[in-house]
Amino acid sequence: MPTDNMQNYKSVIIDLKNQNTVKKNGKSITVSRLSNTNNKIYISNEVKIKPKQQQELDRDITAVLDILNVKDKSIQPMAVVISDYEMVNNAVASYNPVKNVVYIRQTILDYNKLIPLQEQLACPENKYSTLLHEYIHWSDAYRNKYSDFANADNYKDELKS
Ligand SMILES: [Zn+2]
Repeated sequence: MPTDNMQNYKSVIIDLKNQNTVKKNGKSITVSRLSNTNNKIYISNEVKIKPKQQQELDRDITAVLDILNVKDKSIQPMAVVISDYEMVNNAVASYNPVKNVVYIRQTILDYNKLIPLQEQLACPENKYSTLLHEYIHWSDAYRNKYSDFANADNYKDELKS
């Protein structure tokens, strides 16, 4: 019988055939898809992620999408985990509406490192609220874009009739 504290984390599988290039502060970063996650998570070549961290991040993104009432999770933005160096500024996470990418600093994966960093930034947020904050930016951008698309479709229908 498995015990309560027995955790079977999914292994980290980096899909090198599913890569993307993102630009952060003018610098190109190659990122690869984590294939053992439910959400659209990519990781920079500069970042190492542990199975537990992967699972926690995946779980937190699902929770945030649920809070935002996103039923079709395929519409979610790319979440990209990048190194402290690649993040350049002190942000823990950020959303780029043009590229539709949520950048996540690797520090967020390590709770013990995150807390001192946030104290330094005088930012009371925890990892969860940081992610939620960025996904709210995405949700706002998506809903704006979607209403534009909806209007465009209506317009097309009007032309047909
Ligand atoms: Zn913000």
